[in-house]
Amino acid sequence: MQLSGVLGHKRLTALISRAIDRGTLPPTLLFAGPSGVGKWMVARATAQAVNCLEPLRSPLPYDACGKCRSCDRIARGVHVDVIAIEPDDRASIKIDVIRDVLERTGYRPFEGKLRVILIREADTLETSAQNSLLKSLEEPPPGTMFILTTAAPGVLLPTVRSRCMRLRFGRLTATEVTTALVRDHGQTEAEARAAAPLADGSIGQALALSDTDLSELRDSAIALLQQTSGRADTPARLQAATNLVGQKGKERDREELAVVLRLTASMLRDIEAINAGADRAVLANPVIVDDLSNLARSFAGDRARTAFGAVDRALTALDRNAGTKVVAEWLAVQL
Ligand SMILES: [Zn+2]
Repeated sequence: MQLSGVLGHKRLTALISRAIDRGTLPPTLLFAGPSGVGKWMVARATAQAVNCLEPLRSPLPYDACGKCRSCDRIARGVHVDVIAIEPDDRASIKIDVIRDVLERTGYRPFEGKLRVILIREADTLETSAQNSLLKSLEEPPPGTMFILTTAAPGVLLPTVRSRCMRLRFGRLTATEVTTALVRDHGQTEAEARAAAPLADGSIGQALALSDTDLSELRDSAIALLQQTSGRADTPARLQAATNLVGQKGKERDREELAVVLRLTASMLRDIEAINAGADRAVLANPVIVDDLSNLARSFAGDRARTAFGAVDRALTALDRNAGTKVVAEWLAVQL
């Protein structure tokens, strides 16, 4: 993977490329941001760029060629100087693994220009493993750089965090997720377009969702719109909220409710498109086009857009740990 081939994160990849070109790339980097957005991919692309034997100068100032012996070996994971450390089966990285790798940094890079130590999900490093890294992060051995990636930087020891230059990765746009699903994961355009709006800007989440049966969640989202459309009175709306979160003892968890709300949001976008007379081929939910067309009249004018804004606020509230029942009731009244 080249830096220029990474989807999204253009500002960060340009920054990394410029820094490599000028020789100012810090030797200890921490890539922080939501999981599944491509941090690990950028880490590997960086390792490839700094070790490439025939680096490209366009479109970025400095990038891997993707073809030389070094690029090829890194892509296949067999380059001796690019060491990737990932959590074990128990989702932890043990001190022995780190000790073993640090021992190797006593020697100059064997075949590469730079030895790059990549640590994935660095928040899973045992405390002792983190402590054993401190000295090397403070003063990396000559010819060695570290890239740590994490979705939970707050879990790392402050002493580890403070020794790394932090780059913040944001979420991808729905379009970027769609492109990635088609380009890198063999999904059809239609599959990708249905999954992307639910993925919250994370390719990882889109892939996890594609293994889930969405039909039940989709039914809940349609029901919510149907039960709040027209002139539903307050008791009917509160009932819709109860249906949304589930009966006592069988309540939906926060994550599942969030997926239903993202589905609702993507349906409201479709309804807006239908009302605007858009081509059906552009809809994210073509399988339920009849239900959506029936709802379109109730959500005419600005109502679909206003409702979309309300769903968006409900999702933000969920993200900030508001109670599921409170959020559902607020939303059912707003729609
Ligand atoms: Zn190369």
